[in-house]
Amino acid sequence: MARVLRGTLGIVLLACAIAPKAHSENMDFSKTDLMDLGKLDAKLVLDIRYATANNFTGKPVYHQARAFLQRNAAMAIVRVHEALQRQGFRLKIYDAYRPLSVQKIFWAILPDPRYVADPKLGSMHNRGMAVDVALTDLNGRDVPMPTAYDEFSEKAHRDYHKAPTQALRHRDILEAAMQKEGFHGIPTEWWHFDYQGWDRYPVLDIPFEELRIKGIRSDAPSTELG
Ligand SMILES: [Zn+2]
Repeated sequence: MARVLRGTLGIVLLACAIAPKAHSENMDFSKTDLMDLGKLDAKLVLDIRYATANNFTGKPVYHQARAFLQRNAAMAIVRVHEALQRQGFRLKIYDAYRPLSVQKIFWAILPDPRYVADPKLGSMHNRGMAVDVALTDLNGRDVPMPTAYDEFSEKAHRDYHKAPTQALRHRDILEAAMQKEGFHGIPTEWWHFDYQGWDRYPVLDIPFEELRIKGIRSDAPSTELG
């Protein structure tokens, strides 16, 4: 992410929002190998808001409440979760892989590149290399975080320090655990993390329910885009 964030005092390119370059037909992408986080680690707390009306669009945009990441990122999430459980927390997943068609819905509602990636460029989520997360306690109950999910305000910024002490502490614990396993946050959303090597994966537009049909076995190894 250094390429994205370097020298960007004036212009901040958000990972959740903007991929710094469009996906190119000429790139030699890694094989797509999306894994189902819920099957990989049953203790993850799935709160897939985009499968419900409880999201900024006000309607469900996913047909299934599932979360997928490319293999390396998915395995890293399992390690993050193991470390967090040793500290008395569990990891909540709000969103992970997001089909490009859903990105277009978001852009139609909120065409603001500070918060939503222009679908012409694609989001890290469209590559299966970004995840939106929070902490819960060991029983899966929410713990204080700086804001609710998808609150598009400065209170959600990583450098916002006026939130309650407990919320800031939880944000720091989450960030430290994610960074240790190769995830990088962005300035404006405490919940969003990109995984290292994201640019080796293409933007995808395959609905969750078609992943297996397309040959991307969402819960098994050694798969590829059909
Ligand atoms: Zn995100």
